[in-house]
Amino acid sequence: MKKRHYNIPVFVPHIGCPHDCVFCNQRHITGTQSEVCADDVRRIIDEHLKYIDKNGAEVEVAFFGGSFTGIDFNLQTSLMREAYEYIKAGRVDSLRCSTRPDCIDGVILENAKKYGMKTIELGVQSTDSEVLLKSGRGHGREEVFAASELIKKHGFSLGLQMMLGLPADTREKSIRTAKDIISISPDFVRIYPTLVVEDTALYDMYKSDAYKPITTEYAVDLAAELIEMFEDAGIEVIRIGLQTTDNINEETVIGPYHSAMGELARAEVYKRSIEKRVTTDVIDGVLIYTVPEGETSKAVGHKRSNIKYFKDKYGIDLKIVETVEKN
Ligand code: SF4
Repeated sequence: MKKRHYNIPVFVPHIGCPHDCVFCNQRHITGTQSEVCADDVRRIIDEHLKYIDKNGAEVEVAFFGGSFTGIDFNLQTSLMREAYEYIKAGRVDSLRCSTRPDCIDGVILENAKKYGMKTIELGVQSTDSEVLLKSGRGHGREEVFAASELIKKHGFSLGLQMMLGLPADTREKSIRTAKDIISISPDFVRIYPTLVVEDTALYDMYKSDAYKPITTEYAVDLAAELIEMFEDAGIEVIRIGLQTTDNINEETVIGPYHSAMGELARAEVYKRSIEKRVTTDVIDGVLIYTVPEGETSKAVGHKRSNIKYFKDKYGIDLKIVETVEKN
């Protein structure tokens, strides 16, 4: 059986980042505006541990929200050291962080390893040079490959994040990025459709008609194609779309925001797979489609979208059946 897993998120805002990616307003995304210190780390971990049943579960402290390995070396060390006390006490198992490709080197990785860091996520966003440039990322595609290799070489679990619909982006470029990511063979991937948030350069570009966000339909369709590519390559996609926070919701962003973006994309993946069976597996107007245990709602689709789709397009009654694994 899979271990229960808890993440204790410690948001480390923009402080470490000298860049200004056009889409980023770090303070909005993380929901916090102040710097984080070791006391905060302790307070946040203590607060979460009150509600976590550690018994047999895996507990990870996650430094998210900025470029963790880009912040002042002494500060990142003091934050990790604080969290490491909980690892030593057996109350937390490991640390993870998100960062950018040009904030990785051997010294940083060795230091992180010393304090129990196990997983590093890189914001790749795209491997297309023009997209990276127009998005103000401040690094090129080479850094993505070099940092990924170094992280893997140091024995960390590697996650890569990509974005859809950045300035100068196209469907072909996203697919090219996915192929590049597959060639790196990370342990997992996250896919984020680009949202336009106020107080960002992208918002100004949007206002002056220099940027047009992708639609939710396009994001769902493209994400579904990418999920298929990654999963065919044995790479897990652990998230699609931004997490809802107090500051990010459909009223505060422009673009492909949907609170159930992941569900929509997963339903689209199922729709594509089911559609391949329409010509061969329909008996008396009924198509029985088998899914693993717990997957029914994804196959049925958001608000039963797939059931409706097959009824409207083909006049077929779609029945989703779960396989039950016996021990
Ligand atoms: S690197 Fe990350 S934190 Fe820095 S501006 Fe870009 S998205 Fe924001």
